[in-house]
Amino acid sequence: MPTAVRPEEAEDLALAHGKREAVERLDGFVAFVQVLRDDRVHGAHSRHVLRPGRYSHPPVDLYEYQGKELFKRVGIPVSDGRRADTPQEARAAAQELGGAVVVKAQVLTGGRGKAGGVKLAEGVDDVEQKAKDILGLDINGHIVRRLWIERASDIAKEYYLSITFDRGAKKPLFMFTTQGGVEIEQVAEENPDALIRLHVDPLEGYQPWVARRLVYGARVEDPSEQKQIAAIVERLYRAFVEFDAMLCEINPLIVTPEGEVKALDSKFTVDDSALFRHPDIAEWRDTTAADPIEAFAREKGVTYVKLDGDVGICGNGAGLAMSTVDVVAHVGGKPANFCDLGGGGSAEGVVDALEVITRDPQVKSIFFNIFGGITRCDEVARGILEALERLDMSKYPIVVRLDGTNAEDGRKILADAGKPNIHPEATMLDGAKKAVELAR
Ligand code: GDP
Ligand code: MN
Repeated sequence: MPTAVRPEEAEDLALAHGKREAVERLDGFVAFVQVLRDDRVHGAHSRHVLRPGRYSHPPVDLYEYQGKELFKRVGIPVSDGRRADTPQEARAAAQELGGAVVVKAQVLTGGRGKAGGVKLAEGVDDVEQKAKDILGLDINGHIVRRLWIERASDIAKEYYLSITFDRGAKKPLFMFTTQGGVEIEQVAEENPDALIRLHVDPLEGYQPWVARRLVYGARVEDPSEQKQIAAIVERLYRAFVEFDAMLCEINPLIVTPEGEVKALDSKFTVDDSALFRHPDIAEWRDTTAADPIEAFAREKGVTYVKLDGDVGICGNGAGLAMSTVDVVAHVGGKPANFCDLGGGGSAEGVVDALEVITRDPQVKSIFFNIFGGITRCDEVARGILEALERLDMSKYPIVVRLDGTNAEDGRKILADAGKPNIHPEATMLDGAKKAVELAR
């Protein structure tokens, strides 16, 4: 199937999606699509693999306490803690741990501290009360149902350390800065020199100079800190490889007043396609924690990733849908989602996709970007019209760009229908501009 992006349109498209989490999920998705493409090339083409929905396995995000368990296995220092799902369990955990503890919401999203999901507590009554306060909180749409009660740490300094994939360089990338504790995007923007980035050649593997470069580059001067951080860098690389991670992030990596370095937080993402090698991690997976709209999409068999904007997007083929996300961002808009209509473009598929996309209350306009190959544009046009019969879409302007197989027919069908909220456009760029304009 052609990727169906015209060179002039695809050129120079900045990755401007904004929200990192969504981009990471998209990245994970693209990795899978790439795998899928390779499979097609090599002829591993069972039909069900090509059905939309079947190949939308997102990477596995682990809870903080699970990530910390993996840190512990490779020898990265973490604080002692206990799981708790009720205020009573939190009380019992605090009793066991003794002394001051921190009560931490376990949700698969960042910024818990700011949202009131991380609270210091002293004494069992206080812990129980803080647990009550935090359980049920809504943090970025994630309801808190689990807690992690951890022995409280005194903090002298907050650093940041992560390793992830740099797809451009095709190598793992370490990032380290002494300006931790805050969102790393903020450091990258305001103080880029403080953020040390270093690739590791996967064939060469980890070498001691990697840690030295990070530590000296970020001007960590204390020899004991240097030594401890170097050990953590090496172990984090081991965790990254051993557990088939896509991201391991420690923010903050703290230094205590006594000079002890340890991981106070963990963000750990495991490659879904490697889960068969890690049955224990596979068991940790919490399918109930998915974004509710994404869960609905999975039920419907729609390939969908929620983003944070207001322009709903629907393309046929993951590559085209991905490019559409980029183009909408490129012309100054905010994509609300990624959605791949797949090969068919039948009315059924269009209805399902629209149902999913419009569940998101932020969506203000919808952009169909269709390049007909196997998919026939006339069929998609009929699908859109039929969807409009079956769903009340009157409050959404719908921009439709049809190109490729039977595009003329498709456009005629839409024009003849005379629907006031359908706006045909000839190119992907014009379509994106129109959809962004209509979302304002
Ligand atoms: P996030 O907001 O989701 O990234 O959650 P973190 O686990 O990073 O916690 C947020 C912030 O809470 C940290 O940056 C610390 O400043 C603070 N915090 C977390 N645990 C402790 C602790 O044990 N002691 C102290 N003093 N502060 C903590
Ligand atoms: Mn954090």
